Amino acid sequence: MRTTIERRDLGPRDVLIEIRYAGICHSDIHTVRGEWGPISYPQTVGHEIVGAVTEVGAEVARHAVGDRVGVGCMVNSCRECVNCQAGQEQYCLAGNTGTYTAVDRDGTITQGGYSTHIVVDEDFVLRVPESIPYEKAAPLLCAGITTYSPLSHWKAGPGSKVAVVGLGGLGHMAVKIAAAMGAEVTVLSQTLGKKDDGLAFGARHYYATGDPDTFEKLKNTFDLIVNTVSAPVDMGAYLSLLRLDGTLVAVGAPPEPLPVQVFALFGNRRSFAGSSIGGIAETQEMLDFCAEHGIAPEVEVIDGDAVNEAYERVLKSDVRYRFVIDIDSIR
Ligand code: NAP
Ligand code: ZN
Ligand code: ZN
Repeated sequence: MRTTIERRDLGPRDVLIEIRYAGICHSDIHTVRGEWGPISYPQTVGHEIVGAVTEVGAEVARHAVGDRVGVGCMVNSCRECVNCQAGQEQYCLAGNTGTYTAVDRDGTITQGGYSTHIVVDEDFVLRVPESIPYEKAAPLLCAGITTYSPLSHWKAGPGSKVAVVGLGGLGHMAVKIAAAMGAEVTVLSQTLGKKDDGLAFGARHYYATGDPDTFEKLKNTFDLIVNTVSAPVDMGAYLSLLRLDGTLVAVGAPPEPLPVQVFALFGNRRSFAGSSIGGIAETQEMLDFCAEHGIAPEVEVIDGDAVNEAYERVLKSDVRYRFVIDIDSIR
């Protein structure tokens, strides 16, 4: 539904961005459907935001009018806690300020990127490399960083075997990034329907999780499994695929608990971990990495009035591989 939201007046350290494209993340869908808990309405979602700077506050040093920029899942943090000091603002101990549904410093509820403009503190605004077209840059601000961060932290690279569970928005970026890092990548998807795509994105192997033989064949194989599935899946089955000291990292965020039998962790000294987006410096590093390696998401650009239909398709795992809203269509 179309509505009018207010943005705050530009503060001395703020940047005004004219939004050009906004990606549709499955988190937007969990949020608007209330799956992660109640939210207050009206609420505009969207945290894969790109556009051009049209105005800057008096003290802004990092960005200038005309710059191509992006904003991801957070727009502020305390800057002082040990995690912020370590460049891990996503883990701010005071809670980072989410791009939407969070309480902003002026007490209002933050509103996301399915909108024409946004005002953001300059420290939470990223530079979008020239070589990445706007519409393809948008999904990097969440799907890109959420997969880059654990792949980098758990050292995906030459000699490591990485599995990606779920070939959706996050999953297809995980495949491209892990392959660019030099890892041997396997896709674990519900069916073989997207096999050609997965291999074209850089995966070496592709298996259907609907086939029970898959779990038998791949026992004790992977150093790292990145689970991007938005629904609960059997953790024990995936843990059994880890080799010695392997890690299964959850980035998919179903609201339901994922039960884990500890014996599944004892064998091969396995770890079950989680990871949330990435820090600001790391997000810039990811954008530059993607530009350097010529990596970009596969996007389907839609008009604003097609959002509900796109949500239905995402829910049916019918996304190739990220919907991106052309914001000119709602201007
Ligand atoms: P998406 O595009 O819908 O991709 C999810 C994929 O999971 C689907 O394409 C499908 O892949 C697979 N899947 C869906 N339902 C399934 C089921 N019932 N059983 C098995 N597999 C299923 O979603 P996304 O935007 O990539 O987001 C994925 C999840 O990550 C969401 O829960 C989102 O909220 C979360 N997320 C977390 C973070 C974080 O910081 N940790 C950041 C962003 C998003 P196949 O068709 O290949 O099986
Ligand atoms: Zn997201
Ligand atoms: Zn902090």
